[in-house]
Amino acid sequence: MLLRSFVLFGFSTSNFEHRTSNLVSWIIDTPSPTQYNTFVEAESLKICKYGESVLKEKAALVRDLNQGIIDLAAAMAQTLHQAPGIGLAAPQVGESLRLITVDLSVGENPDELLVIVNPLILEAEGHETSEEGCLSVPGYSLPVKRSARILLQGTLLDGRELRAEFDGLKARVLQHEIDHLDGVLIVDRQSSLKRTLIRKEISHKRKSGEW
Ligand SMILES: [Zn+2]
Repeated sequence: MLLRSFVLFGFSTSNFEHRTSNLVSWIIDTPSPTQYNTFVEAESLKICKYGESVLKEKAALVRDLNQGIIDLAAAMAQTLHQAPGIGLAAPQVGESLRLITVDLSVGENPDELLVIVNPLILEAEGHETSEEGCLSVPGYSLPVKRSARILLQGTLLDGRELRAEFDGLKARVLQHEIDHLDGVLIVDRQSSLKRTLIRKEISHKRKSGEW
């Protein structure tokens, strides 16, 4: 997910301090920053754009947290920071796997980087509509309705289970990235008329080599 649209629309992380809510059962095992700090300098990966088939697939569960997955996560984090963006899902770099990276600090604060394997939304409540950008749909900022708060389950890179509640911008980015794992993009969350217009526009851009 792109940071730019949030900056344009006046979002900042400070507007999204954690609020207490009815979903009380969250216990966080916070990811260990040192683990991510040990990421070797990875090479940036190519980001797939709207129209590429991998973005429409339902991504496979990660069955084995092997070195390949850790290397992929490192390369995704590097790609995310370089883009720059605040969220990136594995299908966006051509890997149809359930793995996401989120970093609202865009690499400024190592503690902010969250890498989640097989993320799953267990509960959701409330709704908020905001503009979102997407690294796979460059140049577009589109309104998307999301749950305001989510209870999420997943696995961290060191194998620990994560079960945590998120709200605000982080909840939005997580939902955006999990959408990618199900082959859903922000364009798909528009009205059919708007979707058709955007598809036509992108198709023109592709023909003229701008996409
Ligand atoms: Zn995206």
